[in-house]
Amino acid sequence: MKIKKGDRVRVLTGKDRGKEGEVMRAIPESGKVIVDGVNVSKRHQRATRATTQGGIIDKDMPIPVANVAILCPTDGATRIGYRFDDQGRKVRICRKCGGEL
Ligand SMILES: [Zn+2]
Repeated sequence: MKIKKGDRVRVLTGKDRGKEGEVMRAIPESGKVIVDGVNVSKRHQRATRATTQGGIIDKDMPIPVANVAILCPTDGATRIGYRFDDQGRKVRICRKCGGEL
């Protein structure tokens, strides 16, 4: 999966289309990501010993990574390419401007 935790992304489809947020968690097994403030669903939580506060909480739910695009500082939503830098390390680049992501 090309998108990683900490990346800033924009949602391309669905009810949160156009929203931007930080990737809180990447789930490669299912090809999904959890983005801060996106695909929020209300969870009814019972008060437990660990969480004294019961009630309705907002929870960010995973969305398919295909529905988000990484944000390049210059071009906005873009696709990810790869190239090798001077030290021979593989780095992610923006497909539009070629800048490192
Ligand atoms: Zn770019």
